[in-house]
Amino acid sequence: MTSPLPSLARVAIIGGGPAGLMAAEKLATAGAVVTVYDRMPTVGRKFMMAGRGGLNLTHNEPLDNFIGRYGAAAARLAPVLEAFPPSDLRAWCESLGVETFVGSSGRVFPKTLKASPVLRAWLRRLDSLGVKFALRHTWRGWKGKGDLAFTDAEEKNIAVQTEATILALGGASWPRLGSDGGWVEILRAQGIAVAPLRPANCGFIAPWSDLFSARFAGQPLKPVTVSFGSKTLQGEAVITREGLEGGVIYALSPALRDTIEATGSAVLTLDLRPGLSVETLTRRLQTPRGSQSASTYLRKAAGLSPLALGLMRESLGKAALPTETEALVALIKNTKITLTATAPIARAISSAGGVSLDVLDAHFMVKKKRGLFVIGEMLDWEAPTGGYLLQACFSTAVAAAKGVEDYLRQSTSPPPAA
Ligand SMILES: Cc1cc2nc3c(=O)[nH]c(=O)nc-3n(C[C@H](O)[C@H](O)[C@H](O)COP(=O)(O)OP(=O)(O)OC[C@H]3O[C@@H](n4cnc5c(N)ncnc54)[C@H](O)[C@@H]3O)c2cc1C
Repeated sequence: MTSPLPSLARVAIIGGGPAGLMAAEKLATAGAVVTVYDRMPTVGRKFMMAGRGGLNLTHNEPLDNFIGRYGAAAARLAPVLEAFPPSDLRAWCESLGVETFVGSSGRVFPKTLKASPVLRAWLRRLDSLGVKFALRHTWRGWKGKGDLAFTDAEEKNIAVQTEATILALGGASWPRLGSDGGWVEILRAQGIAVAPLRPANCGFIAPWSDLFSARFAGQPLKPVTVSFGSKTLQGEAVITREGLEGGVIYALSPALRDTIEATGSAVLTLDLRPGLSVETLTRRLQTPRGSQSASTYLRKAAGLSPLALGLMRESLGKAALPTETEALVALIKNTKITLTATAPIARAISSAGGVSLDVLDAHFMVKKKRGLFVIGEMLDWEAPTGGYLLQACFSTAVAAAKGVEDYLRQSTSPPPAA
């Protein structure tokens, strides 16, 4: 049996997103005196936003595959994902009275789809556990002998002493929801290694002509097959005023981003008629065009939408559409779009980069600043959409809460008898 926590062990959790709230639940359950600090007037704003299009909590697939989604951080996150796997996350959600289900793609959602019923029930539970909330408190770093330094809504300085602190400040996407990456410089000033925050699961900039942008911005491109490097994916993309975004683009975003950073651009290959083979398209485009315009002919013979035709024209720049069947088919199956930059991080679904996993122990405690833990999206891992983001936030929170418990027990236990 584990010993109880020292009475009145105070833990500050800074950041009331899913990671911070899960750590708060675990530690309050263990008997710690927990206060959650957040700069916003309410907690869980990004969690609520994540629920807008259906809250994708986690993913239902063999755990080895699941862990593989975290790329370079997979080995480091494996123990915490095994200790609090997707099945535990589903059980937790159901313990709040919100059933979950597996969608056709393996994504796991609450039956309510929205985040609000989950958050409401969760906040009731935290309240019953005695968790306190200090909202409109912006964390500024440390002052004096290591007190946490906050400013409140009136810009008044507030110093807080605790036995342990968990930072759960999120990344830098959607800053209006609270997480803006302002913590990066505070931690670097303490000598804590932080990899630059970069957009992940993000859109990209393409040099559209004004005409194309005005006509097609906001339109979905589906179905489309998109290839980059060794990956070919079918799905949906959306044209934006400045470029492209959407599921298939997000899925290719790490490789696209890294290539653009290294070489200045990345060339995507689109198959605009993935349902038709080269042979079928060739046969269809051998029918005489007669007096039809090129657009009408291609729309009728190849089933190309005005958007697909627009993309073909954009890829050619000033050159005209080819008239020869073979070249036309090749263009439909291999339309090249050059991407020149990532869309701003403020519009990305998540951030890559963050606190280096190398400076943390197995429970996410900063090795050189004992008693300080870091969890959630502010850690240096990235993953695709599909529930992997929230799962890692929850799993790292559970691991750190256990680490805080161990730390509190050790740091307050009496020295061994001589
Ligand atoms: C549009 C959108 C849809 C998404 N959909 C999904 C999805 O379906 N499934 C999925 O897995 N993931 C999804 N995500 C990603 C997911 O929401 C995030 O990965 C997750 O919320 C990160 O949790 P976190 O607790 O680490 O940080 P956050 O949720 O960002 O919480 C951080 C908290 O820290 C507070 N904070 C920051 N700085 C300070 C400071 N200096 N002082 C005090 N407080 C501070 C912020 O106000 C915020 O409340 C989506 C994201 C977006 C933007």
